[in-house]
This record gives sequence, structure tokens and C-alpha cells, in this order.
Amino acid sequence: MNITTKEQILDILQMPKEVYRQGIMPKARQVYAENNNNAVRVAAMLGYSNVCKNQCLYCGMRAGNTQIERYRIEAKEIIALGKNAWELGLRRIFLISGEDPLYRFEEILAFVSALNEMGFFISLAAGEYHRQQYEELKAAGVDEYVMKFEMSNEAGFNRLNPSTNFKKRMQAIEEVKQSGMHLASGNIVGYPGQSLNDIAEDILLMKKLNISWAPVIPYFPAAGTPLAKEGARGDLTTNLKEISILRLMMPAINITAAQPGEDMKKGLSDVEGNFNALKAGANLFFVDMLPAAMAKNFSVIDDRLMQGLEHVYKLAEMAEMQVKL
Ligand code: SF4
Repeated sequence: MNITTKEQILDILQMPKEVYRQGIMPKARQVYAENNNNAVRVAAMLGYSNVCKNQCLYCGMRAGNTQIERYRIEAKEIIALGKNAWELGLRRIFLISGEDPLYRFEEILAFVSALNEMGFFISLAAGEYHRQQYEELKAAGVDEYVMKFEMSNEAGFNRLNPSTNFKKRMQAIEEVKQSGMHLASGNIVGYPGQSLNDIAEDILLMKKLNISWAPVIPYFPAAGTPLAKEGARGDLTTNLKEISILRLMMPAINITAAQPGEDMKKGLSDVEGNFNALKAGANLFFVDMLPAAMAKNFSVIDDRLMQGLEHVYKLAEMAEMQVKL
């Protein structure tokens, strides 16, 4: 099934749920299995600072949110947590932070170098930097940089991300690509005011950017954020449809499988949500390395709750897939 046009994408986004579940979902899953040894992938995840100077209207970690306790983990401790992950058998690590102006860049380079020496495939999400800094991150050992465009609708982006702007974000994405790091990028699905046409444009942009990982997720209203007053959570079926379309368009990329189900309290480890994501063509899970007290405050969304490797093996068995650490 060759999807190349906006009309084809919109056809799937608009089709009845059952037609999608019976026709498109199995095809997407089959495309993944045939191109990737039918293996679920897993990364250690470490939110090393929840301090952020920005004010994205949808994010629980925005600077203006006084409802969470802030923390910052030093390089030495990050390296120790990385060793724990390595001993668990994990070989990918995803390091993520708010745009924390007091986290020294040299310290980031130091923990990246140490984790690179251990042998990890390193993904980093730390916000917008200067062009030369992306090159330094690449030289230190970052394999993949996560820079979400969040929404390809320029006016929407500029309203919801007042600390930057769309042109600046796209310039940063271009610079990440020029540095030689892989680019992980994607959108938020179903935020208030988004249309299916917007989602179709987002998908086309992910394809155009030749992404290595689509860190897509449905919109969750996060406590203490301005956007939470404007509307409810994003539609789960639309999110699954997007996963399947991305899989059919890009058979080898990673797509986040840690997706929510109907019960938002079960967070990103909801068995139903995770299983549906695998059936839709997603493949990538995370094992949170943060101590529990900090994990609670890494609150880009409420109830981010994630479970460990055992959960990943259970889901892989349910979906009749192997696990690749
Ligand atoms: S989305 Fe990222 S940059 Fe925006 S407020 Fe949240 S942590 Fe900061």
C-alpha cells in the first residue's frame, strides 16, 4: 500500500473506525514485521532535568507551572543510572530535559561522552541550541536528536509555543540534520483546534524530514496549563490511524508504542493502549530509569507512568513479537 498524497492520508483519517481496524491496521503491522524481524525495540529513558524556561501552553513542565517540584540530575548520577540500564541489558538510551538554562552544556557533553563510551545508542531531547552545539553533541556521541515540530500549522505553533516560533523551530530542525545526527520529530495528535487536514500536513512533514523516530502522542490536557482549559484529550483512534499511516509510509522508522488507552490514570503503560499501538504498527517502548519521586515530577503530561522491562516482554508476547534490547 503506497501512501504518498494528502488525499490518501485524509481518506484513512476520515474512515470509520472498524474499516480502519480491519483494513489498514493489519497492513501496517505486517509492513513493520516484514521489515524489522517483527521485534519490539526498547530504550532506557532518563528525564535528567524538569526545569524549563519555556511556556508551551500544553506542557505540564512549562516555566509558569508552580504545581510541580523541580529537579536536576548531575552528570555523575546520570552516568551511574546509565550503568544500571546497561546492566539491565538495554543498549539504547533516551535522555530528555526541559530547556534548562542552568544545565551547563559542558556537563551534557560529559555525560554523553561517558554513555557513548559504554556503547549506548544515544537519543537526546534538550531543546533548541546554536548550530555549532549540535555539531559538538554529534562529536560527543549523540546518535539521534529529538526535536519535535509539534504542529506544522504555523499560526497554531506560534500561539502554543510562545517562547520560540515556527520558523526558528524549523531552522533548528534543519541544523540538527546538517550536523549528521538522525532526526526524531513528530506532532501532537488531537490538541484543541487541530483539524484532520493539520494532521495530514504533519504526517507529510515527518515524511519530508526523513525522520528516524516518530515520538507521536495524543494530546493530554496537563494540570496547570492554559490549553487544558480549551478542550479534552486527543482521539485515540485518530492517533492509531496516524501510527499506521506513518508505518505504511516509513517501514523502518521507530514509532512510540508507549501509548495511552481509555483509562488515562494508567498513563503510558496501559496494556490496552500499548497493545493497540503495536497492532497499529508502533514498535518502541521505554524503561524509565528515574527514581520514582523524580519520575512523578517529569510531568510533560499528567500520569506519564511507565513500567519496566517485564511490561515490555508481556506486551511483546501478547503481540507475538520478539524483543530487541
Ligand atoms: S514542551 Fe518542552 S520546551 Fe515546552 S515547556 Fe514543555 S519541556 Fe519546556
